[in-house]
Amino acid sequence: MRTLRTVAELRAALAEPRRGGATVALVPTMGYLHDGHLSLIRAARGAADEIVVSLFVNPAQFNEAADLAAYPRDEARDAALAAEAGADLLFAPALEEVYPPGFATQVRIAGPLTERLEGAHRGAEHFHGVTTVVTKLLNMVAPDVVFFGQKDAQQALVIRRLAADLDLPVRIEVAPTVREPDGLALSSRNVRLHGDDRRRALALHRALTTAQAQLAAGTRDAAALAAAARRAMDDLDVKPEYLELVDPQTLAPVAAVDQETLLAVAARIGEVRLIDNAVLSPNGRSAGS
Ligand code: AMP
Repeated sequence: MRTLRTVAELRAALAEPRRGGATVALVPTMGYLHDGHLSLIRAARGAADEIVVSLFVNPAQFNEAADLAAYPRDEARDAALAAEAGADLLFAPALEEVYPPGFATQVRIAGPLTERLEGAHRGAEHFHGVTTVVTKLLNMVAPDVVFFGQKDAQQALVIRRLAADLDLPVRIEVAPTVREPDGLALSSRNVRLHGDDRRRALALHRALTTAQAQLAAGTRDAAALAAAARRAMDDLDVKPEYLELVDPQTLAPVAAVDQETLLAVAARIGEVRLIDNAVLSPNGRSAGS
């Protein structure tokens, strides 16, 4: 695996395989790779010939300076893990390569997809930062297929909207959430959970599994499911920033789980903000948790 710093190097590295008919997959990441990221790289390995992993901590999508400053980074470790999982190229540009002096363009999706849930709490600017950098990465790499995780369900939805609205010639794959054995969704931010916070972080997963159990027991009312999920979090002394049952396509709140419903939750555990979600299904089968 080669590490590349500039768009020119990246395009040069992809030119020859492309001439030979190779397909290209992109896995965008902010680094500090864990098994969730590696599952995307492995899925990409099975879907294309040339696998590009991008590593870029995008300041434009951070709404808190402290979160950006504390974001864990270890490029050498990331390079070793990405290579082992099957990446061919690690694209790790400097800030100025992505945002050179004079940079002034934003790609913004308007409306509920960027304004609800994460958008309501982190600000829609978060998603404007995501859509801007993802558009740039897609233009830099020009992949046939790009991989995202269901862990960031709203982000995946926003990216699908972006690709549809801008006629981006790329296939979008969304892979299931990878979890610790006790259910905690893997996240680069988990390394910042210290002491009792690691145990309290389980509140998010508990909320999801509690709602799933209530649903399986026959409760379809969204308010009742949300109340049960909140109580489960309360047991670990965690208050959600939001906990909502919404339509998985529009993010509009639902009154009952009569069709597939996204249960999305965010909570601050100490100084670390975590998110998680599950897709609830009225026939009892649930995905994601
Ligand atoms: P990040 O580095 O946090 O920006 O994540 C890069 C990609 O990995 C995004 O598409 C995430 O949705 C995905 N991802 C993060 N955590 C997980 C996880 N636990 N399981 C699966 N995918 C994940």
